[in-house]
Amino acid sequence: MSNRGINISAALAIVLSPFSIAVFAQGTPDSVDTHLRAAKTAAGFDFTGALARLCVAPPTVLAVGDTAPGPAPARDTWFSEPAKVFDNLYFVGSKIHSSWALTTSEGIILIDTLFTYNSEEEIIGGLKKLGLDPAKVKYVIISHAHGDHVGGAKMMQDRFGSHIVMGGPDWDLIEKSVNGYPQGKPKRDIVADDGQRIILGDTAVTIVTTPGHTPGTLSMLFTVKDNGKAIHVAYSGGTAFNFPSTVSNFDVYIKSQQKMAAAAVAANSTILMSNHTEFDSAIPKIKMLAARKPGEAHTFELGKQAVARYFTVTRECAEAARLKLGQSPK
Ligand SMILES: [Zn+2]
Repeated sequence: MSNRGINISAALAIVLSPFSIAVFAQGTPDSVDTHLRAAKTAAGFDFTGALARLCVAPPTVLAVGDTAPGPAPARDTWFSEPAKVFDNLYFVGSKIHSSWALTTSEGIILIDTLFTYNSEEEIIGGLKKLGLDPAKVKYVIISHAHGDHVGGAKMMQDRFGSHIVMGGPDWDLIEKSVNGYPQGKPKRDIVADDGQRIILGDTAVTIVTTPGHTPGTLSMLFTVKDNGKAIHVAYSGGTAFNFPSTVSNFDVYIKSQQKMAAAAVAANSTILMSNHTEFDSAIPKIKMLAARKPGEAHTFELGKQAVARYFTVTRECAEAARLKLGQSPK
């Protein structure tokens, strides 16, 4: 608890930095400070990671390069043990990035992979450790084509014939890339549409296109079971502002946050998941699950209001960053 207190204090001290105070002094109703305060209030204790990343001095991005992946970092910086989290949902991610195996009556839907260097150990190794057969992965849904999420797609396609589902503009990004895939690219497979349902046996994942983080970013809605009880999940597919910092790009991002917030409400989502563990605190929640007592709520179940607050954080931080564009010298 005290750790949380320290973290939030530190985040707020930076959020309310001299820059925002200066803006506040101007007294404009639609000020950067107004949006930062709204984001801070919405974050509460649940989304300090998203608040810190998006509201605390997000960097200005001039252009997105087509860079080659760097060398693999030391294993102890990323390795995380796999875990069963719900009756039908298993974590096979790293300390930093998530990959989830959704089990169905007809096989497995994998949601996101990791980097190329750790997908084999975490995903294939993790599934095996959990008693699941990686050859039963029929679909791999990739939220967006950045190296930290798409790095294992080719492996799953080549080795198990898994179908890869991705947004059309992100398939284009892969095909156009010269430097990004030194070990080969996944071949274009299923192009996801807004509202499309990826159905496997008794389970469906509904795609919500949320362009912004990348042009083809996919968010998702699906249902997990907690000791037989159905709980609805909103999975946010792209978060940080690492797109070129322009007003129109922020407008697209903000619209997608509003769209996904509405979709989460309509689906009665009480769980918010992300593909970065810093945004949904997946690692501590998985650890806390081990200490859960009978009758206690699942550590991932936050409630509808909290899910709505997450999208307020992402939207308000984007509004603040968008307003700053107009104020800072170019
Ligand atoms: Zn990304």
